Amino acid sequence: QAKKSGKDRYTVFEPAMQADFQAGLQMEADLRRAVVRHEFELRYQPIVHLRTNDITGLEALVRWQHPERGIVPPMDFVPLAEETGLIVPIGEWVLREACHQAAAWNLRRGGRPLSVSVNVSAVQLEQGGVPAAVRESLASSGLPAACLVLEMTESLLVDHRIGTLRQLEELKAIGVRLAIDDFGTGYSSLAYLRQFPFDIIKIDKSFVDDIGDGPTAAALTHGIIQLGQALHLSTIAEGIEHAGQLNELTNDCDLGQGYYFAEPLTEQAMGDLLFPPADES
Ligand code: C2E
Ligand code: MG
Ligand code: MG
Ligand code: MG
Repeated sequence: QAKKSGKDRYTVFEPAMQADFQAGLQMEADLRRAVVRHEFELRYQPIVHLRTNDITGLEALVRWQHPERGIVPPMDFVPLAEETGLIVPIGEWVLREACHQAAAWNLRRGGRPLSVSVNVSAVQLEQGGVPAAVRESLASSGLPAACLVLEMTESLLVDHRIGTLRQLEELKAIGVRLAIDDFGTGYSSLAYLRQFPFDIIKIDKSFVDDIGDGPTAAALTHGIIQLGQALHLSTIAEGIEHAGQLNELTNDCDLGQGYYFAEPLTEQAMGDLLFPPADES
Protein backbone atom coordinates (compact mmCIF):
# COMPACT_ATOMS: atom_id res chain seq x y z
CA GLN A 1 0.00 0.00 0.00
CA ALA A 2 2.81 2.39 0.92
CA LYS A 3 4.62 1.50 -2.30
CA LYS A 4 1.52 2.19 -4.29
CA SER A 5 1.00 5.66 -2.83
CA GLY A 6 4.66 6.35 -3.43
CA LYS A 7 4.18 5.45 -7.05
CA ASP A 8 1.01 7.54 -7.22
CA ARG A 9 2.90 10.48 -5.87
CA TYR A 10 5.32 10.26 -8.75
CA THR A 11 2.63 10.04 -11.37
CA VAL A 12 0.94 13.09 -9.87
CA PHE A 13 3.98 15.31 -9.52
CA GLU A 14 6.34 14.27 -12.25
CA PRO A 15 4.66 15.83 -15.29
CA ALA A 16 4.25 19.17 -13.52
CA MET A 17 7.85 19.18 -12.33
CA GLN A 18 9.04 18.20 -15.78
CA ALA A 19 7.04 21.04 -17.32
CA ASP A 20 8.43 23.56 -14.81
CA PHE A 21 11.93 22.33 -15.46
CA GLN A 22 11.54 22.62 -19.21
CA ALA A 23 9.93 26.04 -18.94
CA GLY A 24 12.89 27.11 -16.82
CA LEU A 25 15.38 25.84 -19.40
CA GLN A 26 13.46 27.55 -22.19
CA MET A 27 13.42 30.79 -20.22
CA GLU A 28 17.16 30.55 -19.62
CA ALA A 29 17.81 29.96 -23.33
CA ASP A 30 15.55 32.93 -24.16
CA LEU A 31 17.38 35.12 -21.67
CA ARG A 32 20.79 34.20 -23.11
CA ARG A 33 19.50 35.12 -26.56
CA ALA A 34 18.06 38.36 -25.17
CA VAL A 35 21.50 39.40 -23.91
CA VAL A 36 23.08 38.76 -27.30
CA ARG A 37 20.29 40.47 -29.24
CA HIS A 38 19.83 43.38 -26.81
CA GLU A 39 16.17 42.75 -26.12
CA PHE A 40 16.13 45.03 -23.06
CA GLU A 41 14.66 48.49 -22.64
CA LEU A 42 14.66 51.03 -19.86
CA ARG A 43 11.78 52.88 -18.29
CA TYR A 44 12.42 56.03 -16.27
CA GLN A 45 10.44 57.05 -13.21
CA PRO A 46 10.80 60.65 -11.97
CA ILE A 47 12.08 61.33 -8.46
CA VAL A 48 10.43 64.51 -7.28
CA HIS A 49 11.32 67.15 -4.70
CA LEU A 50 8.20 66.99 -2.53
CA ARG A 51 8.05 70.67 -1.56
CA THR A 52 8.83 72.22 -4.96
CA ASN A 53 7.58 69.45 -7.29
CA ASP A 54 10.85 69.69 -9.26
CA ILE A 55 12.13 66.53 -10.91
CA THR A 56 15.60 66.08 -9.40
CA GLY A 57 16.30 62.58 -10.65
CA LEU A 58 15.09 59.44 -12.35
CA GLU A 59 15.18 55.77 -11.54
CA ALA A 60 16.06 53.54 -14.48
CA LEU A 61 13.99 50.32 -14.46
CA VAL A 62 14.73 47.46 -16.86
CA ARG A 63 12.15 45.69 -19.06
CA TRP A 64 12.63 42.69 -21.33
CA GLN A 65 10.99 43.04 -24.73
CA HIS A 66 10.43 39.33 -25.39
CA PRO A 67 9.69 38.56 -29.06
CA GLU A 68 6.65 36.36 -28.24
CA ARG A 69 5.69 37.27 -24.71
CA GLY A 70 5.90 41.03 -25.02
CA ILE A 71 7.14 43.20 -22.18
CA VAL A 72 8.42 41.09 -19.27
CA PRO A 73 8.73 42.94 -15.91
CA PRO A 74 11.94 42.62 -13.88
CA MET A 75 10.41 40.45 -11.15
CA ASP A 76 9.79 37.79 -13.82
CA PHE A 77 13.39 37.58 -15.07
CA VAL A 78 15.84 39.30 -12.71
CA PRO A 79 15.86 36.33 -10.28
CA LEU A 80 16.76 33.92 -13.13
CA ALA A 81 19.30 36.43 -14.44
CA GLU A 82 20.87 36.45 -10.98
CA GLU A 83 20.95 32.65 -10.73
CA THR A 84 22.58 32.26 -14.13
CA GLY A 85 24.98 35.20 -13.82
CA LEU A 86 23.34 36.86 -16.83
CA ILE A 87 22.56 39.82 -14.55
CA VAL A 88 26.20 40.85 -15.03
CA PRO A 89 25.98 41.66 -18.77
CA ILE A 90 22.37 42.87 -18.36
CA GLY A 91 23.41 45.16 -15.49
CA GLU A 92 26.33 46.53 -17.50
CA TRP A 93 23.97 47.32 -20.36
CA VAL A 94 21.51 49.05 -17.99
CA LEU A 95 24.30 51.14 -16.48
CA ARG A 96 25.70 52.22 -19.84
CA GLU A 97 22.28 53.01 -21.32
CA ALA A 98 21.10 54.94 -18.23
CA CYS A 99 24.32 56.99 -18.08
CA HIS A 100 24.18 57.89 -21.77
CA GLN A 101 20.52 58.90 -21.58
CA ALA A 102 21.03 60.90 -18.40
CA ALA A 103 24.06 62.66 -19.90
CA ALA A 104 22.00 63.71 -22.93
CA TRP A 105 19.15 65.00 -20.73
CA ASN A 106 21.62 66.83 -18.48
CA LEU A 107 23.03 68.70 -21.46
CA ARG A 108 19.52 69.80 -22.48
CA ARG A 109 18.67 70.84 -18.90
CA GLY A 110 21.58 73.26 -18.77
CA GLY A 111 22.46 74.17 -15.17
CA ARG A 112 20.08 72.01 -13.10
CA PRO A 113 21.66 68.60 -12.59
CA LEU A 114 19.48 65.53 -13.06
CA SER A 115 20.62 62.36 -11.35
CA VAL A 116 19.94 58.83 -12.51
CA SER A 117 19.52 55.87 -10.17
CA VAL A 118 20.45 52.37 -11.32
CA ASN A 119 19.59 49.18 -9.43
CA VAL A 120 22.57 46.94 -8.77
CA SER A 121 22.22 43.31 -7.77
CA ALA A 122 24.35 41.68 -5.09
CA VAL A 123 25.42 39.14 -7.72
CA GLN A 124 27.06 41.98 -9.67
CA LEU A 125 28.89 43.09 -6.53
CA GLU A 126 30.01 39.53 -5.75
CA GLN A 127 31.36 39.20 -9.25
CA GLY A 128 33.51 42.24 -8.57
CA GLY A 129 33.27 44.26 -11.76
CA VAL A 130 30.93 47.05 -10.65
CA PRO A 131 33.50 49.85 -10.09
CA ALA A 132 35.11 49.15 -13.49
CA ALA A 133 31.72 49.12 -15.23
CA VAL A 134 30.79 52.39 -13.51
CA ARG A 135 34.05 54.07 -14.56
CA GLU A 136 33.55 52.89 -18.14
CA SER A 137 29.93 54.13 -18.31
CA LEU A 138 30.79 57.52 -16.80
CA ALA A 139 33.78 58.00 -19.09
CA SER A 140 32.00 57.01 -22.29
CA SER A 141 28.84 59.02 -21.52
CA GLY A 142 30.46 62.07 -19.94
CA LEU A 143 27.92 61.92 -17.08
CA PRO A 144 29.38 63.49 -13.91
CA ALA A 145 29.85 60.88 -11.17
CA ALA A 146 27.77 63.05 -8.82
CA CYS A 147 24.76 62.45 -11.10
CA LEU A 148 24.84 58.66 -10.71
CA VAL A 149 23.18 56.81 -7.83
CA LEU A 150 23.49 53.06 -7.34
CA GLU A 151 20.59 51.42 -5.50
CA MET A 152 20.97 48.16 -3.66
CA THR A 153 18.63 46.27 -1.39
CA GLU A 154 19.61 45.44 2.13
CA SER A 155 18.29 41.89 1.80
CA LEU A 156 20.76 41.30 -1.00
CA LEU A 157 23.66 42.54 1.09
CA VAL A 158 22.95 39.96 3.82
CA ASP A 159 25.21 37.44 2.20
CA HIS A 160 27.94 39.98 1.61
CA ARG A 161 31.56 39.10 1.16
CA ILE A 162 34.44 41.20 2.44
CA GLY A 163 34.82 42.42 -1.13
CA THR A 164 31.44 44.16 -1.03
CA LEU A 165 32.49 46.86 1.41
CA ARG A 166 35.72 47.44 -0.50
CA GLN A 167 33.78 47.90 -3.74
CA LEU A 168 31.28 50.25 -2.14
CA GLU A 169 34.18 52.35 -0.85
CA GLU A 170 35.76 52.29 -4.30
CA LEU A 171 32.45 53.51 -5.76
CA LYS A 172 32.29 56.31 -3.21
CA ALA A 173 35.82 57.34 -4.18
CA ILE A 174 34.70 57.59 -7.81
CA GLY A 175 32.08 60.07 -6.57
CA VAL A 176 28.83 58.17 -7.16
CA ARG A 177 26.18 58.04 -4.44
CA LEU A 178 24.78 54.88 -2.89
CA ALA A 179 21.16 54.30 -1.94
CA ILE A 180 19.74 51.59 0.28
CA ASP A 181 16.58 50.41 -1.52
CA ASP A 182 13.38 49.06 0.07
CA PHE A 183 14.59 50.31 3.45
CA GLY A 184 12.87 48.74 6.45
CA THR A 185 11.93 45.43 4.83
CA GLY A 186 15.06 43.45 5.72
CA TYR A 187 16.19 41.97 8.98
CA SER A 188 18.88 44.44 9.94
CA SER A 189 18.39 47.71 8.17
CA LEU A 190 20.06 49.66 10.96
CA ALA A 191 23.15 47.47 10.93
CA TYR A 192 23.54 48.12 7.19
CA LEU A 193 23.42 51.84 7.69
CA ARG A 194 26.31 51.49 10.11
CA GLN A 195 28.35 49.07 8.00
CA PHE A 196 28.01 50.53 4.54
CA PRO A 197 28.59 54.10 3.30
CA PHE A 198 25.08 54.92 2.06
CA ASP A 199 24.02 58.45 1.07
CA ILE A 200 20.32 57.91 0.49
CA ILE A 201 17.57 55.92 2.19
CA LYS A 202 14.67 54.78 0.02
CA ILE A 203 11.72 54.15 2.32
CA ASP A 204 9.95 51.02 1.16
CA LYS A 205 6.56 51.37 -0.48
CA SER A 206 4.93 49.20 2.19
CA PHE A 207 5.35 51.98 4.78
CA VAL A 208 3.98 54.61 2.42
CA ASP A 209 1.05 52.29 1.51
CA ASP A 210 -0.10 52.10 5.11
CA ILE A 211 0.00 55.84 5.83
CA GLY A 212 -3.58 56.77 6.56
CA ASP A 213 -4.50 53.32 7.90
CA GLY A 214 -3.64 54.44 11.41
CA PRO A 215 -0.91 56.13 13.40
CA THR A 216 1.65 53.30 13.32
CA ALA A 217 2.75 53.42 9.69
CA ALA A 218 2.98 57.22 9.72
CA ALA A 219 5.04 57.13 12.93
CA LEU A 220 7.41 54.52 11.49
CA THR A 221 7.81 56.52 8.29
CA HIS A 222 8.57 59.75 10.18
CA GLY A 223 10.99 57.79 12.37
CA ILE A 224 12.91 56.59 9.31
CA ILE A 225 12.97 60.14 7.93
CA GLN A 226 14.33 61.49 11.23
CA LEU A 227 16.94 58.75 11.28
CA GLY A 228 18.02 59.84 7.82
CA GLN A 229 18.23 63.46 8.91
CA ALA A 230 20.29 62.59 11.98
CA LEU A 231 22.75 60.69 9.76
CA HIS A 232 22.74 63.45 7.09
CA LEU A 233 21.27 61.10 4.50
CA SER A 234 18.55 62.11 2.11
CA THR A 235 15.31 60.16 2.13
CA ILE A 236 13.15 59.14 -0.81
CA ALA A 237 9.65 57.81 -0.18
CA GLU A 238 8.78 55.05 -2.68
CA GLY A 239 5.35 54.29 -4.07
CA ILE A 240 3.43 57.52 -3.37
CA GLU A 241 0.04 56.99 -5.00
CA HIS A 242 -2.30 59.47 -3.29
CA ALA A 243 -2.37 63.14 -2.27
CA GLY A 244 -2.99 62.07 1.35
CA GLN A 245 0.34 60.21 1.43
CA LEU A 246 2.08 63.20 -0.11
CA ASN A 247 0.60 65.56 2.49
CA GLU A 248 1.82 63.33 5.30
CA LEU A 249 5.34 63.30 3.86
CA THR A 250 5.84 66.81 2.51
CA ASN A 251 6.91 68.39 5.79
CA ASP A 252 9.93 66.27 6.49
CA CYS A 253 10.75 63.97 3.56
CA ASP A 254 12.96 65.48 0.84
CA LEU A 255 12.06 63.38 -2.16
CA GLY A 256 9.50 60.92 -3.43
CA GLN A 257 8.48 58.80 -6.37
CA GLY A 258 5.32 56.98 -7.24
CA TYR A 259 2.34 56.70 -9.55
CA TYR A 260 0.93 59.91 -8.02
CA PHE A 261 3.65 61.78 -9.95
CA ALA A 262 4.30 59.37 -12.81
CA GLU A 263 4.65 55.69 -13.64
CA PRO A 264 7.90 54.46 -15.12
CA LEU A 265 7.95 56.13 -18.57
CA THR A 266 9.47 55.30 -21.92
CA GLU A 267 12.49 57.35 -22.95
CA GLN A 268 10.26 59.35 -25.29
CA ALA A 269 7.61 60.09 -22.65
CA MET A 270 10.26 60.96 -20.06
CA GLY A 271 11.90 63.35 -22.53
CA ASP A 272 8.50 65.02 -23.14
CA LEU A 273 7.96 65.39 -19.39
CA LEU A 274 11.41 66.92 -18.85
CA PHE A 275 11.20 69.15 -21.91
CA PRO A 276 7.53 69.82 -22.70
CA PRO A 277 7.17 70.01 -26.50
CA ALA A 278 5.32 73.38 -26.15
CA ASP A 279 8.49 74.95 -24.73
CA GLU A 280 10.39 74.23 -27.92
CA SER A 281 8.22 76.23 -30.30
P1 C2E B 1 12.68 48.92 -6.95
O1 C2E B 1 14.08 49.27 -7.27
O2 C2E B 1 12.24 49.06 -5.54
O3 C2E B 1 11.79 49.81 -7.94
C1 C2E B 1 10.53 50.34 -7.60
C2 C2E B 1 9.42 49.50 -8.20
O4 C2E B 1 8.17 50.02 -7.74
C3 C2E B 1 9.35 49.55 -9.72
O5 C2E B 1 8.83 48.31 -10.17
C4 C2E B 1 8.32 50.66 -9.94
O6 C2E B 1 7.67 50.55 -11.19
C5 C2E B 1 7.35 50.37 -8.82
N1 C2E B 1 6.60 51.57 -8.42
C6 C2E B 1 7.01 52.85 -8.42
N2 C2E B 1 6.04 53.67 -7.96
C7 C2E B 1 4.98 52.89 -7.66
C8 C2E B 1 3.66 53.15 -7.14
O7 C2E B 1 3.27 54.29 -6.85
N3 C2E B 1 2.86 52.06 -6.96
C9 C2E B 1 3.26 50.79 -7.27
N4 C2E B 1 2.41 49.79 -7.07
N5 C2E B 1 4.50 50.50 -7.75
C10 C2E B 1 5.35 51.55 -7.94
P2 C2E B 1 9.52 47.51 -11.38
O8 C2E B 1 9.95 48.44 -12.45
O9 C2E B 1 8.61 46.38 -11.74
O10 C2E B 1 10.83 46.93 -10.72
C11 C2E B 1 10.74 45.99 -9.67
C12 C2E B 1 12.09 45.70 -9.08
O11 C2E B 1 12.95 45.06 -10.03
C13 C2E B 1 12.85 46.95 -8.65
O12 C2E B 1 12.37 47.40 -7.39
C14 C2E B 1 14.27 46.42 -8.59
O13 C2E B 1 14.48 45.73 -7.39
C15 C2E B 1 14.27 45.42 -9.74
N6 C2E B 1 14.89 46.03 -10.93
C16 C2E B 1 14.36 46.90 -11.82
N7 C2E B 1 15.27 47.26 -12.75
C17 C2E B 1 16.42 46.62 -12.42
C18 C2E B 1 17.75 46.60 -12.99
O14 C2E B 1 18.07 47.28 -13.98
N8 C2E B 1 18.68 45.79 -12.37
C19 C2E B 1 18.35 45.07 -11.25
N9 C2E B 1 19.33 44.30 -10.69
N10 C2E B 1 17.13 45.08 -10.69
C20 C2E B 1 16.17 45.85 -11.27
MG1 MG C 1 15.30 50.74 -6.89
MG1 MG D 1 12.46 49.98 -3.86
MG1 MG E 1 12.16 46.47 -4.72
